[in-house]
Amino acid sequence: MDFGFTPEQEAFARTVEKFAREEVLPSVERRDETGEWDMELWKKIGDMGLCGLPIPEEYGGSGADAVTSLLAYEAFTKGSKDPGLYLSLGAHLFICTIPIWLHGNEAQKKKYLPKLASGEWIGALGLTEPNAGSDAAGIQTTAHLEGDYYILNGSKMFITNGPMADVVLVMATVDKSKRADGVTAFIVEKGTPGFSVSRKLNKMGHRTSPTAELVFEDCKVPVENVVGEVGKGFHATTDALVWERGVFLAAESLGMMAAMLEDAVEYAKTRTQFGQPIAKFQMIRDKIARMKVTYDAARMLAFRAAWMKDSGKDGKFEASIAKAFYADELVKFADDALQVFGGYGYMKEYPIERMYRDARLMPIGGGTSEVQRLVVSSNLLR
Ligand SMILES: Cc1cc2nc3c(=O)[nH]c(=O)nc-3n(C[C@H](O)[C@H](O)[C@H](O)COP(=O)(O)OP(=O)(O)OC[C@H]3O[C@@H](n4cnc5c(N)ncnc54)[C@H](O)[C@@H]3O)c2cc1C
Repeated sequence: MDFGFTPEQEAFARTVEKFAREEVLPSVERRDETGEWDMELWKKIGDMGLCGLPIPEEYGGSGADAVTSLLAYEAFTKGSKDPGLYLSLGAHLFICTIPIWLHGNEAQKKKYLPKLASGEWIGALGLTEPNAGSDAAGIQTTAHLEGDYYILNGSKMFITNGPMADVVLVMATVDKSKRADGVTAFIVEKGTPGFSVSRKLNKMGHRTSPTAELVFEDCKVPVENVVGEVGKGFHATTDALVWERGVFLAAESLGMMAAMLEDAVEYAKTRTQFGQPIAKFQMIRDKIARMKVTYDAARMLAFRAAWMKDSGKDGKFEASIAKAFYADELVKFADDALQVFGGYGYMKEYPIERMYRDARLMPIGGGTSEVQRLVVSSNLLR
């Protein structure tokens, strides 16, 4: 067993963290306040190769493995202190671009992957609907065949990058009665007649990541845009689950924990009360120690799932175990970190206020914590 990273992996992570600190961090407060999307910043992230790190080189990515990706994106979130922008990056890559890579045909991969991997195009996944969240097999958006086109009707809710995505991987059903076995994946391009953004959503956290409701009204999608087989759309998302839960959202949670711990330690050493740094108080030290233990435990679980992926093992069960842990722990972690800052932690001048709001998404997105525990218990109680 080897718990170490290679010197190349560590050097790359340091480069990514430095980039994120220098390029992303300076504007995060403003973007959080306004909710604006900075296309120039996105282009810089693309130029760094971060929009398609794990995508094979032949399709414009770097072919990074899961462990390297997890380490690099953790560093991105830590350095930027911008989980929102990272959510947009992750949704683009892990739940749109990777499913196209894993399930698309050669023509689709050649057409879409280079532009997605470079960041020239922005991707999104349209799975959740107003009345179908955890019960994703119950989606109501329909697709029926008419000649060389599928006609899509329905709406999608809470879609990350929805307002500006060039490519949306949309799940629709060809037969509602079949539930999961009717679900089919379609690539829908921006500008396709019948596809529109009905409203941009205002959020508590992750405000630097635009979210929208999307509508499909007799939207004509060419048959060649079906990803994988008709009725097998779920495979496109489930096969990417280790990437989503073991890498994408894990990297965000770990990066946030690392940033909050670093900030809390620094603050505890410099804030003086009762004539001494608050770091001297045992109850503050207890919080710092708990944070470090949680961070290391979360890291072990996430890297185990990523390592399994790289070793050719399944890893989905382990990715759910990891998410069940890091998602809920992140919320408690943020609460403890904010407490170290006292009243200043409640003010917008410190990043902890933003990360506290951002942390609350983790037990909801990418399969709620309840759903992760259902997956874990179902594996044990077959
Ligand atoms: C900021 C943000 C970004 C998102 N981005 C995307 C995106 O890009 N693409 C996309 O498709 N979706 C996206 N989502 C949707 C996200 O995946 C869903 O919110 C999530 O799956 C939960 O669905 P829901 O919100 O409908 O909650 P519900 O499924 O209605 O759940 C409500 C509550 O009931 C619980 N519950 C539900 N079923 C069970 C059960 N069987 N047993 C026990 N408890 C249960 C849940 O755990 C939860 O606590 C995003 C959501 C947010 C908030």
